[in-house]
Amino acid sequence: MTGSLPRAMILSTRSADIAIIGAGAAGLELARMASNAGQKVVLFEQGVSNGRHLFQRIPLMVGKIIGNKRFVDASESVAQVAAGNRQLPVLTGRGLGGSSRVNGNVAYAGPVERYGHVFTPLGLDFADILKRMNTGDTTPRPHSWNDALSAKFLDAAQALGTPKVDDPDAQGAFAGGSILHVNTKRGLRHNHLEGYRDTAVVENIEIIRAPVTGIAFDGTRATGVTSQNGTIQAGEVILCAGAIGSPLLLMQSGIGAADMLAAAGLKTLHDLPYVGRHLKDHANLRLPFSCEGHDTLNQKTRGLRALWEGLKFIAGSKDTILRGPGASAGVNVAMGGDIIEDSYRIQLVHFTQDRSAVGDKGIVFERQQKASLGIYALWPKSQGAVRIGAQGVQIDPGFLTDEADVQTTLQGMKQARAIMAEMGFEPDPQEAPDEDTMRSGVYSGYHLIGSNRMSMDADSGVVGPDFAVHGLTGLSVCDASVLPDHLSSHSYLPVIAMARMFAQTRGWAA
Ligand SMILES: Cc1cc2nc3c(=O)[nH]c(=O)nc-3n(C[C@H](O)[C@H](O)[C@H](O)COP(=O)(O)OP(=O)(O)OC[C@H]3O[C@@H](n4cnc5c(N)ncnc54)[C@H](O)[C@@H]3O)c2cc1C
Repeated sequence: MTGSLPRAMILSTRSADIAIIGAGAAGLELARMASNAGQKVVLFEQGVSNGRHLFQRIPLMVGKIIGNKRFVDASESVAQVAAGNRQLPVLTGRGLGGSSRVNGNVAYAGPVERYGHVFTPLGLDFADILKRMNTGDTTPRPHSWNDALSAKFLDAAQALGTPKVDDPDAQGAFAGGSILHVNTKRGLRHNHLEGYRDTAVVENIEIIRAPVTGIAFDGTRATGVTSQNGTIQAGEVILCAGAIGSPLLLMQSGIGAADMLAAAGLKTLHDLPYVGRHLKDHANLRLPFSCEGHDTLNQKTRGLRALWEGLKFIAGSKDTILRGPGASAGVNVAMGGDIIEDSYRIQLVHFTQDRSAVGDKGIVFERQQKASLGIYALWPKSQGAVRIGAQGVQIDPGFLTDEADVQTTLQGMKQARAIMAEMGFEPDPQEAPDEDTMRSGVYSGYHLIGSNRMSMDADSGVVGPDFAVHGLTGLSVCDASVLPDHLSSHSYLPVIAMARMFAQTRGWAA
């Protein structure tokens, strides 16, 4: 009989223990753990991609799809007043795996001391979760690609006082230089999506490919999820739509600052002023240098050289550029001696590109014999917001709006020039970069966090330490948006750590 009913009616009669919105890094990991704990899960995902496209598997090829709307939602930020008044690209992934399927795949959970710094005031202890993550399970690593240029870079950094470490996630080792750790297996990307496919109890999970348009409520209790096809009832709704998608969906469901919602013509269900605030990212600057004697991706991705790299990859060689994300090594440097306070990162990037021109063709490498050093403040204090208004959505990462980040980045730029000189290479251009170079040159590090930050109360954030939205029942948020601050040089594994903490609070983790 149901075959003749409209789809909306079929959906509205169904129910689940848990509805998860967004099958990205956090959403898939939560679905995996909840399904193992015997929960019936409905998982909504707006994107159609299943994460298996070859360009989502071969680390370097991801650079070619990050402008492709099938895999990525690309928008422009509002003009960044402290960054040359430029509107900068904001990218987030879509489809199974979300951003974790189009990211650089560089995977660091971050130092346990930094988690203590951020989460002790909230009463959460991540030590056990990090210990388990760093001993393997769903995140095999490191299997990156590196070459003589990486060795030169790490040697130069060491000569200038930054020691080499094997694993920056080992206790006390975050301040140091290492070959990049990426989540790959036999040269192919292997992250929590493979973990999901291997160990989720799929009979307990129904995936619905549809954009969620709102969360249904009965008073202040979330009761289900509405998509274009109707509403599904659920015992608990968990929002995992990412640092842009999650605050937007809360706002579209009437949860946010009442004055902002009214200005946008939206009804207020629950006045929660911090929804969308405290958006953070890493403001990433790249300084190019000439590297005579070393071919970079600028050369190796063209003509017969590219064919040769492809053949080596197929033959299983570890020595091929396709195995890495285009960057191969990085150093974390503490300015005042303590890595969890004022610190910066310098990363060796084996190409140069016009960063304002990431479009349908993805990253386009330049032709010159050049590479670059990427620099960013590890724990930026600058913050912006995701807002909604009569004109639509506004994304403002607030790059370089805090003077402390300007000083930290300037220090990183100075050190990067010193490393280039120690490597025996020339910055190109030769003139020392100044504050203007930084302000007109930073781009998103694609590490968006914090727009529904975790806090003890509604006067300073959106969710409590149990991930429940302040003042509501039946609705939680667990994704990059709840991170109160940056925890590592990259954000993917910190998000997985959050998902595991969520599972622990619900008793699913075992
Ligand atoms: C280009 C790029 C490069 C990056 N490089 C790195 C890196 O090298 N290392 C690293 O550690 N981190 C990197 N990151 C960041 C990392 O991938 C993210 O921090 C992490 O994936 C965030 O996880 P999440 O679960 O919060 O959100 P996401 O993984 O973005 O998942 C959110 C999901 O929700 C879905 N969604 C959103 N709105 C709706 C809706 N209304 N209805 C249904 N579904 C919806 C989206 O389609 C998406 O699948 C990168 C990110 C990008 C975009």
